[in-house]
Amino acid sequence: MTNPSERKLRDLEILENIISTFNGIKIYEKEMKETIFEYLNGNLSADNFYKSYLNNRNDFLDRMIHSQEIFLFIEDELIKDKEKLRTVINLKTFENFVSHSDVASGIGDCSSEGDSWDFTDEYKEEAVNNRGCITCPFCNEEIYIFDLYNSFYEDNISLYLTDLYKKKFSIWIDLVEAASINKSQNQLELFPIDERQKRDLLIISTDKKYKLRAKKAEKKAEEAALIQEEKELSKIKNEEKYKNEFPAMMQEIATYLSWGRRNDYIGDWEEESDGLQLAIYWNLDWDFDKRYKATHKTKTFKEIAFRFWLYEEVFGRLTDTDFIYPGNKDNPYDIFLEGYKKLIKVTHKFLSKFGDVKQEKNYFSLKSMDLDFIKGHRDYMHELKQALYDEFESI
Ligand SMILES: [Zn+2]
Repeated sequence: MTNPSERKLRDLEILENIISTFNGIKIYEKEMKETIFEYLNGNLSADNFYKSYLNNRNDFLDRMIHSQEIFLFIEDELIKDKEKLRTVINLKTFENFVSHSDVASGIGDCSSEGDSWDFTDEYKEEAVNNRGCITCPFCNEEIYIFDLYNSFYEDNISLYLTDLYKKKFSIWIDLVEAASINKSQNQLELFPIDERQKRDLLIISTDKKYKLRAKKAEKKAEEAALIQEEKELSKIKNEEKYKNEFPAMMQEIATYLSWGRRNDYIGDWEEESDGLQLAIYWNLDWDFDKRYKATHKTKTFKEIAFRFWLYEEVFGRLTDTDFIYPGNKDNPYDIFLEGYKKLIKVTHKFLSKFGDVKQEKNYFSLKSMDLDFIKGHRDYMHELKQALYDEFESI
């Protein structure tokens, strides 16, 4: 009987036995041993990267692990050797998830980007036979399970290698320290290394990563360009639509202007605020009660006249140039026109609750036999003011 942590230790041992046969790992270990040696002998005290960790072994170990991506030193050898690759991929204590992730370049090109799915036996065989690559079931692209951002790599290989080397580095530190005390530093065993081989290995693995990234980046740039093109196309389409609709729209506005003009109004707005939109707030706040009055009243009947805002009182003064396409670019005529219609509609709907409503241009009249309204029409008109206010906010 073995418990989970024992099983993991066994898997770590299997992983270590496999990678220890690779030339790349020998290069990695030699470099790390040298760094540890330098670190313990104080030779790195001028190196900012390590300086701050001189008194904290645990932080130093973390820093060591993160200073070099271990896997880069062994991936080429691992993905070429099917049997070793199969053994590593099938380690029992690994999380069996894989993902299409490319956090590095930011923009996603897969509908399932970042989500994990089951790394089934079928996918594992594909990976073994295809040098670590499988076909993404969501976008059909080839993905590399050892990509630095793939969940399979992140949740397994990266963590296991970190565990493995944290332990190893710790032992090496003990060894170097013991050797230092015995004044026999040469006891430290360093792997013999072929500098040319090392250079080639590093060039191959980084080169491959760069190419992969560059390919992805290129694809994303193409897609971004396509999206931009579509956006521009739809912008042109919208502009054409706007241009086509412009005459009819301005005709409608002209009809509203025929109810009456407020050519002096823009001055008030400019003093009140930067935004013309605030005009109606100003109106609602200061002048609403002057806009309605009871014209007839008995105990059972009341007639109210309500003077609605002229178009220009709400949206500002228009001039002849507004009516020549495209008009004033700061004026979203379509939105304003729609807004004005909605405000009128809200008024109709509200007043209709209390009786018969008639509208002549911007003048509304309400004939009501609603006793509550007759008793307190002011309160109800204030409700209308609030309803208009709310509607205006949504324009
Ligand atoms: Zn995908």
